[in-house]
Amino acid sequence: MSVYIDREEGFKAPDGAAAARECPHCGAYAQLALVAAPRFERVAEQRPTHIGSAFQCAACHEPRFVKFTVRRYGEQRIDLAPNFVEVERPKERFDFQYLSEDAARLFREALQCYSADCHNAFASMCRRTAQSTFVELGEGSRLKWFELIKEIAALCELDDETTQTVEDVLLGRDERLPQIGAGQAAVLLETMKDILYQTFVRTAKLTAAMRMRRYFADEHEAKITPLDPRNQRLTGSD
Ligand SMILES: [Zn+2]
Repeated sequence: MSVYIDREEGFKAPDGAAAARECPHCGAYAQLALVAAPRFERVAEQRPTHIGSAFQCAACHEPRFVKFTVRRYGEQRIDLAPNFVEVERPKERFDFQYLSEDAARLFREALQCYSADCHNAFASMCRRTAQSTFVELGEGSRLKWFELIKEIAALCELDDETTQTVEDVLLGRDERLPQIGAGQAAVLLETMKDILYQTFVRTAKLTAAMRMRRYFADEHEAKITPLDPRNQRLTGSD
């Protein structure tokens, strides 16, 4: 599969080169439709290492900017590497409405760091999110988080080193956080999402559901009129 810029025909990408991938705007797995690409003459003259093209999301029609690495400069065509990079990354999503204001603000920034591949900044923002939660819910919640990390580690069969890193990032009292890479950041992301879900979302949803059930149960009970013992005589008994 080749992607190239032809001297006469311009930018060419066979179907499948721009295969559906997650849109950073609408989240759909949508095709990319070409909107603009640099001209052959200009690229041939300047010979950059990368070229940029503008596409449009087939689902939401928002622009999607893509970078290609140039593989080879030829007389008739310029070959590009087919595995392009999108400039805007899909955003990590979370149901922030159930989080406290502080935790939501901090974790939103944490997710922005993660989407930008800033893994250590992400870890620092996770620590701050955790700390704000401990202040809000009391020191007992730190122990709860410790238990949840252990539970997640057992469920997902995480190795000891990764588990320890997650613990040090979230629960450590040392100001120096451990340095983390992409793999550990991915584990930290899913751990944070699950713990925040358990801490805030699950509690809020469960409480609301229980309250609703009890409200309707009480209302139903109130509608059943108790029988008056004076009207309980059987017909024809007198
Ligand atoms: Zn879209």
